[in-house]
Amino acid sequence: MRIVLLGAPGSGKGTQAKLLVEKYKIPQMSTGDLLRAEVAAGTDLGKKAKAAMDAGQLVTDDVVLGMIQARLAKPDTKSGFILDGFPRNIPQAQSLDAMLARLGQPLQLALLVDVDTDVLMKRLTGRRTCGSCGAIYNIYFSAPKTSNKCDKCGAALQHRSDDNEQTVGNRLKVYQQQTAPLVNYYKAQGKLRTVRGVGAVSAIFKNVTDIIESQIRPLADVMGKIESAAARQAAKAKAAAVAKTAAAKAASRAAKVPPAKAATAAAKSGPVVKKAPPKKAVVKKAAPKAKSKKAAKPVAKAKKVK
Ligand code: AMP
Repeated sequence: MRIVLLGAPGSGKGTQAKLLVEKYKIPQMSTGDLLRAEVAAGTDLGKKAKAAMDAGQLVTDDVVLGMIQARLAKPDTKSGFILDGFPRNIPQAQSLDAMLARLGQPLQLALLVDVDTDVLMKRLTGRRTCGSCGAIYNIYFSAPKTSNKCDKCGAALQHRSDDNEQTVGNRLKVYQQQTAPLVNYYKAQGKLRTVRGVGAVSAIFKNVTDIIESQIRPLADVMGKIESAAARQAAKAKAAAVAKTAAAKAASRAAKVPPAKAATAAAKSGPVVKKAPPKKAVVKKAAPKAKSKKAAKPVAKAKKVK
């Protein structure tokens, strides 16, 4: 399945994406995570992206498109993927459509996780992430048992540098201006579904999977039927080609010409009908005549005539 998760920063689409990865065993591609990895590794790309990220602005399209193209080329995406945080504007969505069309793997669903702006603010500024196992907490809604320590592995929790109030404000503004228009973009393609992103994570996930099962599974079934019909057709064509080659060989053997010439001749004269070997002219033998005495010794008689 090929899914885009849409939603404002803090809508919880990253959390839902991780649950989908576990359930459907397909990879999540988060441009935010990929960019943070580049920043942490101190690469040129990371250095380029950091200023925009810290300001809550979008990184340039060429940078994220390059990352997505490289990620889509990896073999683990063949069975599907969940895009999280990409596309972030209309040009990115158009480029994604073009990339997926070239791969013959169009998007099947754009799922919007919808959350009101005031909730988003608290979610983002209160968010803390475990630097070791990736578990996510919120100091307002789901605080860890011990302040700043992961309940699962005990590692220190981190506060993302772009989760401060000013940057969060910018990120939400950028979302409204540049990313929200994608809702209508995917609605026009008939691929948009919406889920309310408030309440228990498990309840939201149940709604998410219900949508996926009803939107993608029937489509996958239809695609499966189309693919097996195409496979049957291809097998039939292959069998016909094999039979034609065999017939050409047989014709060449019969006519004692190389198979290539026989195939050309066969192609010109239509289907090859196996000819029976030419019949030998049957000469009816006369029944042996009873030997007459005259005919039996003509030479001897002639000598006597002398
Ligand atoms: P996220 O973790 O998805 O909220 O992304 C964090 C930051 O990375 C964003 O505020 C942007 O600066 C940058 N970013 C992530 N994805 C994209 C994208 N598709 N296009 C441009 N910038 C992005």
